[in-house]
Amino acid sequence: MIPPKATSTGNATQPPNVHDADPIPDAARVAIDAMLRTGDLFRYTTPENSPVALLEAEFAALLGSKYALAVSSCSAALFLSLKSLGLPRDARVLLPGFTFAAVPSSVVHADCIPVLCEVGDNYRVDMADFEAKLDGISAIIISHMRGHTSDMDAIMDLALARDIPVIEDAAHSLGTTWGGQNIGTIGRVGCFSFQSYKMINAGEGGILITDDADLVARAIIMSGAYEHNWKKHPVLHSAFAQWQNQLPLYNLRMSNLSAAVIRPQLPHLAARVKGGRTNHDYVAARLNASPYITVPGALPLEVRAPDSIQFNLVGLDDDDVLVFAAQAEARGVKVQVFGLSQDNARAFWNWQFMPEMPELPKTRAMLMRACDVRLPVRLTQDELDVIVDILTQAAAAAAGPVAAYGT
Ligand SMILES: *Cc1c(COP(=O)(O)O)cnc(C)c1O
Repeated sequence: MIPPKATSTGNATQPPNVHDADPIPDAARVAIDAMLRTGDLFRYTTPENSPVALLEAEFAALLGSKYALAVSSCSAALFLSLKSLGLPRDARVLLPGFTFAAVPSSVVHADCIPVLCEVGDNYRVDMADFEAKLDGISAIIISHMRGHTSDMDAIMDLALARDIPVIEDAAHSLGTTWGGQNIGTIGRVGCFSFQSYKMINAGEGGILITDDADLVARAIIMSGAYEHNWKKHPVLHSAFAQWQNQLPLYNLRMSNLSAAVIRPQLPHLAARVKGGRTNHDYVAARLNASPYITVPGALPLEVRAPDSIQFNLVGLDDDDVLVFAAQAEARGVKVQVFGLSQDNARAFWNWQFMPEMPELPKTRAMLMRACDVRLPVRLTQDELDVIVDILTQAAAAAAGPVAAYGT
């Protein structure tokens, strides 16, 4: 069944459409129209102020970092970060076992070996397993999966003590803060996504931020700033001199069209973050009233920017969980159970391209009970109530035969 489209005056008893993206602000049209007239879509055609260059300046200022490099995706940003760290072939890169398949793929792409650590039932890095696996690790990627921030203080303490660089995969964390600091600015590099299901939607796109001039110089060249195009970046020219003609050009640049779609969304970020958090926290409080559902809370230093909600089913076995998902879908809310939907790209056992595959019992147990529902910021409280009612009824129906027959 295809859920009906949400409207502002929509019938509150109908489940809203949570799948569609939001419209792009009208301001994008003007910039795109001008580009279509001139054909100026390539970031390096103009000597300065191309839309991509302006986006980089605006994004760096927004996050409070020195440098930004816009690229074709967050996965490309992660790949370039690893390459820019100068890791040798087969270097071992530690990352959480709960992430999107593209993240370990970026490690493989960079000729490194992904090493997975356990993630707890609060979706955050299991610090004991993380610490136990640090020996022999050359770099760390922390995926803030679905915006859930792991204990960045503990992670940075352990990493700095061993001089291991940390890359933050903040693809889904734009607007999140940790102890007042923007996520993505805590590690050596932060990588973000502009894919349609993220806070800012350009269909595809990514950006990396860093304060490290040498690292960003290498990333800029490898992203495809061939010949002397790196001179169009506001980075000290001396940082580039030694790398001229020394690095491969992977051509992972962003198009001016994407930048034109992204830039008018940046001023809306703060409101989206606030609205998303209000919606999330409202739904979380109501779901936590169900005896069959727990929504893990934020860590004390974390202020979140959610556009979806994750929760664990409690007291249900595998079959019950499937009944829950079917019952919710029949009522009009599609729930993804990370470990139970077929070929899920967030279930580590499906990453059969991995050179090494550990057993991660905690992460596996979490994935078998963890559910994911999109909560676009546009939803009204009535629509949120419809979603909560459907989820709690489906959980009760799945929890026991008596309840199931009773609905
Ligand atoms: C979406 C996402 C990615 C991949 O981003 P792309 O821009 O599609 O490459 C990586 N990590 C996380 C946590 C994500 O949510």
